[in-house]
Amino acid sequence: MRSSMNDPKKFIERKEIQLFLKSIGGEYAPILAANMIEPISDEDLAAKCNIRAADVRMILNKMHYMGVIDYNRSKDKESGWYYYGWFVRLDKLIDAYLQQKEEDLKNIEQRLNDSDAFTLYICRKCEQTYDFDRATSLLYHCPLCETILDRDITDEDLKKMARMAEQIRKETSEIRRQFGHLHAKKYKTMKVI
Ligand SMILES: [Zn+2]
Repeated sequence: MRSSMNDPKKFIERKEIQLFLKSIGGEYAPILAANMIEPISDEDLAAKCNIRAADVRMILNKMHYMGVIDYNRSKDKESGWYYYGWFVRLDKLIDAYLQQKEEDLKNIEQRLNDSDAFTLYICRKCEQTYDFDRATSLLYHCPLCETILDRDITDEDLKKMARMAEQIRKETSEIRRQFGHLHAKKYKTMKVI
């Protein structure tokens, strides 16, 4: 498929990517990401998305911690003030997404193959799984819907998980095919000290 100028926007607007961003930075992470394809200051971002600047900064921190966004820093010579321009690293976002999904897939397969030996938590509502470490760090709540995660996997869940695995395979190969080229984008960051 040929790449187009709209691909970054289309990529971020994809349902799976929106869910992934939400799982990193909460409810507003997708809208912030969609407005950060080009560098933008946190204040402009807050005004554009109609979200409090303090909340925007908190979400930016979470996304930056995960490595899916970066910033340029410049300095006004007269005032000595620093200016920050935040932007999405599409290459890192696609990597982080694919890595997470591969891990989910591996976990599901492991749980399907050896149901006694492997602990996996599930949110049935969102059809997402979380391994022990992630579930613990989330305090056993789904980051997408706040439902308490369940580790008592039923036979019905196993059937559901087999479908989830199939869905992950389909979705990741589609994203690789359609948006893999975003990975080649070169980012130059400028950080004036
Ligand atoms: Zn959920």
